[in-house]
Amino acid sequence: MTPPFIPAIPRESGTEPDVTVILCGSRILIRRESDGSIRLPRRGETVYPWQSGLMLGRIGPLLCGAMEIADESAATGGDWHDLRPALNALPPPERIAAGRARELLIWRKRRRFCGLCGAVTNDSETECARVCAACGAAFFPVLAPAVIVLVKRGDEALLAHNRRFAKPIYGLIAGFVEAGETVEECIRRELYEEVSITAGNFHYFGSQCWPYPNSLMLGFTAEYRSGEITPDGCEIESANWFRRDAMPEIPAPGSIARSLIDAWIDGRI
Ligand SMILES: [Zn+2]
Repeated sequence: MTPPFIPAIPRESGTEPDVTVILCGSRILIRRESDGSIRLPRRGETVYPWQSGLMLGRIGPLLCGAMEIADESAATGGDWHDLRPALNALPPPERIAAGRARELLIWRKRRRFCGLCGAVTNDSETECARVCAACGAAFFPVLAPAVIVLVKRGDEALLAHNRRFAKPIYGLIAGFVEAGETVEECIRRELYEEVSITAGNFHYFGSQCWPYPNSLMLGFTAEYRSGEITPDGCEIESANWFRRDAMPEIPAPGSIARSLIDAWIDGRI
């Protein structure tokens, strides 16, 4: 069995790690196996400008690191892949490393200066934090929780087309937890705001790292209570109740939206 990913205190290192997450914007460098599966490159498999990268943690004895490059042509010996589908296809420990790489690289870039006094920050020696060189304030990575919900009504489920989705895909209602809310209150608000319905009996389904740029997506099921579906016309262009035998096009496998929809189609939730 593959050992889990064990996070470490991120720190810059001049030593090339055993496994590297190489990112260029929202693309990731991967190696493709003969059976079609993908994995992160091992040391020596790719050629890229490792000068000072970020140490992330370990998979068993393998040290994992990350770095961002400005130009895809600066790395050779692998295939560039869109990060979202790659995250769904990587083996679990490497998926965690890749999600962590993306979140920490963006967080460190945005935390180069202290938000209190404006001085430069440095990596903490003892925890995953940036520490102000002048006033000592510590800044930790912040995760923004988001919810995604499959609402059931008898033998139907609520699916919606968000204007950000590729057409004609129908997915699920989702949104960020606002300051002050519980997760359950967020689900109620999102359903009311986006499609004007109410629902209850929320059950946790599972979660997914959502590093765009720093979220954790929490999946739930819910049962319809009241209201006529009325898309907000802003985020949601159209929404409807669908039966299992008359489904629209749905999100690709690997996303938590698809896992929820598949579980409902199979009668598991
Ligand atoms: Zn400061």
